[in-house]
Amino acid sequence: MNDSFPTVQITLDGDVVDHHRPYQPFKKIPIRLFGTNKTTDVDQSRKPYGRRTVKTGNCLDPVRGCSGGRTNHGLGCWWGCYAKEMSLRFHRLFDIPVSMILNETLLSKDLRRLSTDWVRIGVNGDPCFDWELTSKVVDLVARHDKIPVVVTRFWEFPDGDVLALLAEAKAHLHVSLCAFDPPVFREKRLRVMYRYHELGGTARLRLVSFAFKPDDPLWAVQNELAQHVGVIEQPARVMRSNPVWSRLDSDRYAPHSSYVTGTADHRRLTAGSLYPLLLQCVTGCADCHHQCGTRVPVDLE
Ligand code: SF4
Repeated sequence: MNDSFPTVQITLDGDVVDHHRPYQPFKKIPIRLFGTNKTTDVDQSRKPYGRRTVKTGNCLDPVRGCSGGRTNHGLGCWWGCYAKEMSLRFHRLFDIPVSMILNETLLSKDLRRLSTDWVRIGVNGDPCFDWELTSKVVDLVARHDKIPVVVTRFWEFPDGDVLALLAEAKAHLHVSLCAFDPPVFREKRLRVMYRYHELGGTARLRLVSFAFKPDDPLWAVQNELAQHVGVIEQPARVMRSNPVWSRLDSDRYAPHSSYVTGTADHRRLTAGSLYPLLLQCVTGCADCHHQCGTRVPVDLE
């Protein structure tokens, strides 16, 4: 334990946190495959719910942590970052992204055992903070005949060379955007996505959707985002303590079904799908026949 780190006093929506344990950056560890309660529907003892640790899965993190965690009053992204919330429970300084260690032998061992044909890259942090490392990981995943699916907010953009490498490896880029994002933020990311498409890559806009109050002008922004081709809708799961809550139509929100217990989660509320014609990301990935849309050809025109 490093006593030089300050003890951070944070309470998340009524959660009791241990104020005496110091918060520390993520430790650098080898990049391995893992699962989460969302992506893996049973744990290693075959129990569907109530599990503590899901050991197997098709997820990996080249980078843990994300400086986007500083946004939205420290909640991280407009919807409230689930990864940041979890990291705080483990006393990690989420806002400091830390690159992990690529040991090709170890990761190849995991990839050879994996039965699914795709790998999610980016769960407990945003891979965009180390594109050099992320592109090496993408290349390794592709060499094992798996589709690399990179989930990012593009806080840092890949340069042209990296973009070409990702396209060569047939990586799918999933870029999360929402109507709360400022116009410049959205436009810059869409430009890179279209550029990636020109290079022959697959880019998907993960539209994090909100049910705004009826006359809110953000409806028009969100509807316009939904017009892009190849959009996946991801209905936001929002806590009442989130500052964006005041813009939302609370009558349309109901508890989300917890990925851990299978029962109603009264802390995070969802309005469900608002654009039924879009691909939706409302289930655990293990149940989702769209597989995050990676099997559907995209045509961003
Ligand atoms: S970009 Fe992703 S990891 Fe970073 S704060 Fe936003 S939701 Fe969290």
